[in-house]
Amino acid sequence: MSENRAYPTGGEFLLGDTAPSEVFTPEDFNENQRMISQAASDFVEQKIEPRREELEYQGKTELGEPLLKEAGEMGLLMVDVPERFGGMGADKATIMLISEVISRAGSFAVTHGAQSGIGTLPIVYFGTQAQKEKYLPRLATGELLTAYALTEPGSGSDALAASTTAVLNDAGTHYVLNGTKQYITNAAYAEMFILFAKVDGDKFSCFIVEKDFGGVSIGPEEKKMGIKGSSTCQVVLEDCAVPVENLLGEIGRGHVIAFNILNVGRFKLGASSVGGCKAALADAVPYTSERHQFGKPLNAFGLIRRKIADVTARTFVSEAMVYRTAGLLDRAIDTLDKSADDYDLQSILKVEEFSIECSMIKVFATESMALAAEEGVQMLGGYGYCSEYPLERYYRDERINRIFEGTNEINRMIIPGMLMRKALKGELALLQAAKAVADDLLSIPSFGEMGEPSFLEEETKIAANLKKIALATLGIAAQKYGEGLKDQQEILSDVADIIMEAYACESGLLRTQKKAETDGEESAALMARMVTLYVHDAVERCGVWGRNILANTLAGDELRTMMAGLRRLAKHDPVSRAKLHGEIAEAVIEAEGYTV
Ligand SMILES: Cc1cc2nc3c(=O)[nH]c(=O)nc-3n(C[C@H](O)[C@H](O)[C@H](O)COP(=O)(O)OP(=O)(O)OC[C@H]3O[C@@H](n4cnc5c(N)ncnc54)[C@H](O)[C@@H]3O)c2cc1C
Repeated sequence: MSENRAYPTGGEFLLGDTAPSEVFTPEDFNENQRMISQAASDFVEQKIEPRREELEYQGKTELGEPLLKEAGEMGLLMVDVPERFGGMGADKATIMLISEVISRAGSFAVTHGAQSGIGTLPIVYFGTQAQKEKYLPRLATGELLTAYALTEPGSGSDALAASTTAVLNDAGTHYVLNGTKQYITNAAYAEMFILFAKVDGDKFSCFIVEKDFGGVSIGPEEKKMGIKGSSTCQVVLEDCAVPVENLLGEIGRGHVIAFNILNVGRFKLGASSVGGCKAALADAVPYTSERHQFGKPLNAFGLIRRKIADVTARTFVSEAMVYRTAGLLDRAIDTLDKSADDYDLQSILKVEEFSIECSMIKVFATESMALAAEEGVQMLGGYGYCSEYPLERYYRDERINRIFEGTNEINRMIIPGMLMRKALKGELALLQAAKAVADDLLSIPSFGEMGEPSFLEEETKIAANLKKIALATLGIAAQKYGEGLKDQQEILSDVADIIMEAYACESGLLRTQKKAETDGEESAALMARMVTLYVHDAVERCGVWGRNILANTLAGDELRTMMAGLRRLAKHDPVSRAKLHGEIAEAVIEAEGYTV
């Protein structure tokens, strides 16, 4: 941790050790957080379940409107809104926990996220006092419904290439907006839009557009693969006159709003994907007990047990990463003066420091959910393919998670890209650390002391080595390509995967070690099995990615030497995966779903 900072900053996990006591874990939730989570769970049970069929299978997207009102009445739209504007002003751990629980609402989770997250937060963080007073109290209760309109038919990932224009009228009172926004969640019933347009055709800016301003029309509902109960439409602006006081932030600085809000969307999506993994296990595992083939329950078969164990272990590390990140964000935000006028703005700038972690948990957890849905369908066989069971819907619904809030390709580019930016700005001593690892790889290896292994010693060593592989490969690629590294997407993607695995393994280990330190090793036994399984699989994958990076970057003797170093770092004693699979599956089968 830097000497002049009271908290570890984003990406810093790669450079040193973290003590288990320093990380926030799901075991640390307090009574209040558990109560809020219960309220979200009750909402799903009481309000969503009875309308599940209409929402998800009849595609009644219009139900989103009354459901948002009900969520507002139950206080579920106000968590992110500061108390002085009628909200709860909750910490990030609570916000992520609610996202996780609300994910069980399926399509409505997306509806909820657009209202309480991306549609509200730009005003929380970037609004003027007058804008906050005018809009936030009504957004927090659901009296006013909102949407976030960034994407256009011609600009998705490349959001700043938007072609919607805003021109100041002659009287200087209004911006006149023209253009089309695409795939806008909640557009059908939103009464206002956080909408991006270019002032004079080139200054990317953000506006609060009320539907009643006129010149706003909504297209038909998109016919989607999944999340069929959520509204997704085009928003067309034809000479829509927006009062100048509804400019949000500064002219030409809309990208600051767009990118910062994406960070929040990403960590929330990470959390909701963890909820999705748990839901898939809860729906698939009991079926594998009930269904018999060849005279045995399905989950007596090794291949089914392996699926249960792999999904559970990945869910466990995803959950550890998500809440570790929540803790990092809360710790950084806690250093701010809460009474300062610009507290809200400063708090989103703290989140920005962790954009690497936000992208990592978005990619990692959405891909965990993809695995959970995929294996869930497979465990149910024919019924997995039929809508009588929800796995079929999870399989369709999860697909969007890898596309919105920045596609997983874009997020993979962000992870090493942001690390390099931080290194070049002198915020992270990354390149020095990378050089130290590379030098180490060229030296004669030492074989350390032999003795009785301590708790998870081998896995701790592997996780530390994964960080070294990440640093070494990024450093070697940066040295080879310099500025041009940003165009080496295949290398960057492999580096991103290694960095994510390093964070995943370390987060799972720290959570397990914290549990063992608090309640004894025996009570952390299942966690230890999951993290052992996960870490031994991850190092195999990282070995392959590392090899690819080196082969794409070096040649001849240099390649051979570095390959030897990589093999040394990726070396690990084999474990019996089948035994671990069996033990983990046994616990999950008994619990009829995810358990730690
Ligand atoms: C159901 C749904 C709800 C949505 N809700 C909203 C909303 O409320 N508000 C909003 O503003 N938007 C919303 N979106 C839009 C969503 O954010 C975009 O679809 C997403 O950002 C991707 O943009 P695109 O669809 O134009 O794909 P493209 O950008 O065209 O990408 C297509 C493919 O190319 C890849 N690609 C693109 N650029 C690169 C690159 N530089 N390097 C490598 N690969 C690249 C992508 O990863 C992807 O695989 C929603 C979309 C859907 C489907």
